[in-house]
Amino acid sequence: LRVNYAPFENVRGIKSGFVFVLQDVTEQEKLDRMRRDFVANVSHELKTPLTSIKSYTETLLDGGIDDPDTIQQFLGVIDGEADRMARLVRDLLQLSNFDAKMANLHMEEHDMLHLIRQCIMKLETSYKPKNQRIKINAQETTLVSVFDYDRMEQVLINVIGNAVKYTPEEGKITIFVSRMPKELVLRICDTGMGIPDKDLARIFERFYRVDKARSRALGGTGLGLSIAQQFVEAHGGNIAIESTVDIGTTVTIRLPAVSVSA
Ligand code: ADP
Repeated sequence: LRVNYAPFENVRGIKSGFVFVLQDVTEQEKLDRMRRDFVANVSHELKTPLTSIKSYTETLLDGGIDDPDTIQQFLGVIDGEADRMARLVRDLLQLSNFDAKMANLHMEEHDMLHLIRQCIMKLETSYKPKNQRIKINAQETTLVSVFDYDRMEQVLINVIGNAVKYTPEEGKITIFVSRMPKELVLRICDTGMGIPDKDLARIFERFYRVDKARSRALGGTGLGLSIAQQFVEAHGGNIAIESTVDIGTTVTIRLPAVSVSA
């Protein structure tokens, strides 16, 4: 609470009291703190790979290395760190572009099951070494609904991608899709490592990760779920997560049924 006060004069110019103004600044301060934390996080996330690129490049330039294998290895690290910065910038751009044109969704009719199959195919190509069973469980073979294709693709890549990343090789990922009278419900279930209770409430925050090192090693930026939440909420839907450590995680996405003419 911020308190401002000033002396109060009556019509004859004689000080006869004080005016107090009480202002609730908690909300404003919370926003300021969130903004500061965000900038600090972005700077830190960019600085770490940059420091690494710099030190490996300096060593190479200093001519401290003659062995071609070591040179190859150093260049591999530099390349990997540059990729990491590129992923972070890509995710940040997605968040900021979307912030800027919040209402700009391309709502059209598409087959949700086709989109899910496409996402699985893309993920199977990018996570080749992993060989989990990914199954779609739906009553119908096509499920036409109205949504922004590119944004929903990003949501599914992020959420199914997490299921792939945080589930071991022998694990199972099942995507349940059902049409309710007023909404389309997607449930992405995995039999992976799960998320501890204490972290669950904060998991949609930007940059929040249960295990930073593990997320980084798997190519994560800590922004995937915040992007997914922002896109789903822009559709008027919601996204929720339930999880039990060592048992698995379920992400539920609810999208309101919209007709094209709406
Ligand atoms: P990241 O890029 O780190 O994956 P996300 O925002 O997508 O960032 O997810 C935040 C964190 O939530 C992850 O770092 C991970 O700790 C946890 N998480 C998300 N999905 C799952 C899942 N299916 N199983 C276990 N942990 C998960």
